[in-house]
Amino acid sequence: MIKKLLGRVFSGRMFKSARPRIIAVGEHGITRDRIGSCALRTCDALQEAGYSAFVVGGAVRDLILGRDPKDFDVATNATPEEVRGIFRRSRVIGRRFRIVHVMCGRDLVEVTTFRGPADEGGAGAQVEDEHGRLLRDNVWGDQAQDAARRDFTINALFYDPAKQEVWDYHGGVADLKRKRLRMIGDPAQRYREDPVRMLRAVRFAAACGLEIDAPTRKPVKELAKLLANVPAARLFDEMLKLLLSGHAAECVKRLRREGLHHGLLPLLDVILEQPLGERFVMLALQNTDARIRDGKPVSPAFLFAALMWHEVLAAWKKIEARGVPPIPALYEAMDEMLDKQTEQLAIPRRFTSDMKELWALQPRFGQRAGQRPFRLLEHPRFRAAYDFLLLRCESGEVDAELGEWWTGFQDSDADGRAAMLVADTGPAKKRRKRRRRKAGGPAAPAAD
Ligand code: ATP
Ligand code: MG
Repeated sequence: MIKKLLGRVFSGRMFKSARPRIIAVGEHGITRDRIGSCALRTCDALQEAGYSAFVVGGAVRDLILGRDPKDFDVATNATPEEVRGIFRRSRVIGRRFRIVHVMCGRDLVEVTTFRGPADEGGAGAQVEDEHGRLLRDNVWGDQAQDAARRDFTINALFYDPAKQEVWDYHGGVADLKRKRLRMIGDPAQRYREDPVRMLRAVRFAAACGLEIDAPTRKPVKELAKLLANVPAARLFDEMLKLLLSGHAAECVKRLRREGLHHGLLPLLDVILEQPLGERFVMLALQNTDARIRDGKPVSPAFLFAALMWHEVLAAWKKIEARGVPPIPALYEAMDEMLDKQTEQLAIPRRFTSDMKELWALQPRFGQRAGQRPFRLLEHPRFRAAYDFLLLRCESGEVDAELGEWWTGFQDSDADGRAAMLVADTGPAKKRRKRRRRKAGGPAAPAAD
């Protein structure tokens, strides 16, 4: 108990955090109309019912950076049950971390009750594992305590829409101005409580263009191994946020720099060491980032298929070398890699089936004779598989000519397509060999 108390005093959680700096609209410039209507209505209703209510976290950070927030979270001193009592269209969700979803039309706002320090909750409200990782975290507290439990100073900003004030407990506004990412409290202890914060550090630094403060950065190399204790499904969620942040290429570069890439995707470290693999992964990520910036949809399955492709290729070659025919060998390689992957970062089944389809369609691009190219063109996943092929061409893995042929084939009319077909004569075995050579080696053997 005393040790815990001293720990909190030294980590600055008790005294320094007690009083916020309250910043008026004249200084920060964020007017009430910048807040989403559902979050506004939620805050207003909570305040009318006598509770305090603030927009919190990423939305305030993004508004101060002059960006449009993607969603709005609300923090309040009302308990989940009290929040539930105010909003007819709401429900309590989560076990590890109970929150309320408030719905307004098709909009949704997450309402979180202020969290307090561990030792003040009842039995079972907060539970940790042997590494100090929090398994459950439902101890209520006041706003200052809640601010101290957030991860980074830039994420501990509260905005009161009624008064148009920003409440800053840990110097987050100043950190944003000087482009610093700083952990609240003792960084090593905070990473132990929740190792995912290491990934969050990288994501926020990359997405907001911040430098990670030296004391916040220092423990990461040593504690990176704790990611192995995080449930595979949570790791997937966090990795997905990172990959869909619009700054995925920068994030992966930084993950590597911080030594965090080892436990995430099997052999991602090995892939990134091979020039061809690295080029392919980086191209796929840059492509995704550009699509997100243009407001185009992106497919997580495509992204994960790209991240794992060179591992699948390596496994495929090995299995073929044992004498297994190309297509069964490819299927075996896909299963082997996905099994291995699931142990560390669980890709949901709805994505893995799409990934397999994308991979399995690749050899079919090597077949440019007879009816086969026409059948491939009709395949419902043709477009995604073709985009994947173009990335392979661009990265230098297969001959650019193959991608150009397929681009031309799509653009041609019936006569043009017929004229483009590659002659399909001679015994089947020979044909297969020739096609494989044309398609750029073992990456594109004939199917069926
Ligand atoms: P994003 O733009 O990705 O939504 P965000 O900062 O809003 O960024 P969320 O994951 O939505 O991130 O979390 C909302 C807020 O909850 C954060 O700003 C932070 O204050 C707090 N938070 C989230 N995850 C953690 C964590 N693992 N440890 C401590 N605080 C956290
Ligand atoms: Mg958020």
